[in-house]
Amino acid sequence: MLEARDAVKHLHAYRPPLAGRTGLRLDFNESTVGCSPRVLARLRSLDSEFLARYPEREPVEKEVADFLGLDPVQVLLTNGVDEAIHLLSSTYLDPGDEALIVVPTFAMYAIFARAEGASVVEVRAGDNFTFPEKDLLAQLSPRTRLIAVANPNNPTGAAVAGDVLIRIAEAAPQAALLVDEAYFEFHGETLITRMRQLENLFVARTFSKAYGLAGLRIGILAGEARQMAMVRRVTSPYNVNAAALAVLPEALQDQEYVGRYVAQVLSNRERLQQELGNLGLHYWPSHANFVLVRVGPAHSEFVQALRSRGILVRDRHADPGCEGCVRLTVGSDEHTQTLIGALRDIVERLGLRKELRNEVRA
Ligand code: PMP
Repeated sequence: MLEARDAVKHLHAYRPPLAGRTGLRLDFNESTVGCSPRVLARLRSLDSEFLARYPEREPVEKEVADFLGLDPVQVLLTNGVDEAIHLLSSTYLDPGDEALIVVPTFAMYAIFARAEGASVVEVRAGDNFTFPEKDLLAQLSPRTRLIAVANPNNPTGAAVAGDVLIRIAEAAPQAALLVDEAYFEFHGETLITRMRQLENLFVARTFSKAYGLAGLRIGILAGEARQMAMVRRVTSPYNVNAAALAVLPEALQDQEYVGRYVAQVLSNRERLQQELGNLGLHYWPSHANFVLVRVGPAHSEFVQALRSRGILVRDRHADPGCEGCVRLTVGSDEHTQTLIGALRDIVERLGLRKELRNEVRA
């Protein structure tokens, strides 16, 4: 009988709750307004001759490299950041190697590392999800070959200073350090220009969030030239589809559109956080386009109550250190207003305010 590799047999299937997502989507940190109209116009202009051809990544990689101020040999377009994580795992992890992650964090680092037969070493974030620099450094070993850090982190929204990440890259020259900047546009700090000095540093970006293109599956992996040549060896020449490549230059050129959306999200993030505070809910100040909030034991009812009002949010109760927590995506003015209206009503109805007050007293 055909058997999968042991590493694969031991993996848990990861199935994000994608079914029945109708309503206001505040559950996957997508854009709530969608992509630039220029992107859509370009997409609509594609014809059958264009689709008959295999996609050519390189000219678009050059445009992206120019946009980032990097050399094209440092830039690889990927099928979302997910593929970038997969490619780094394939390039650097042998069975028995260790991948270091800080938890809670994005699920795919552990999945792709384990699929290679590596073991995942989880370092718990500190109080209030602060980055556990000391604990992480203490876990480094000669077998550490991949370290993955989302900055800002998902689902907490916490950010870590670039200097800390540089110290980690320097302390672990035998390991690839992936700094996942999926939420860069909402944070504004990056290490993408630091790869020339640090051969083991990689930065990933995505067009799934601020650019509103999660459905097209396109992201960026940037690194030092010689390392990127290795990563390219395990990459399909056609990993990014033709439609995504065709619209990417438009997406990059319409910075005004992205900038306007990001500005809205930043001001709505403040507004939402203030409102959560007023409602007596504990939240963690976020550097991304979502806010993690502690609802307590009623987290499932809370998610359900929002769903019955047509608003989808994500229960993160099962994540380490996130007991009773729910993650709310921040979107446009109108969408945030809808969320806030529903939150006021639900907090009242579920008696969450009272419950929290009692918790404080106890
Ligand atoms: N990294 C982080 C930290 C994320 O939160 C997500 C999406 N939830 C991704 C990567 C996946 O990005 P992409 O859509 O580009 O694969």
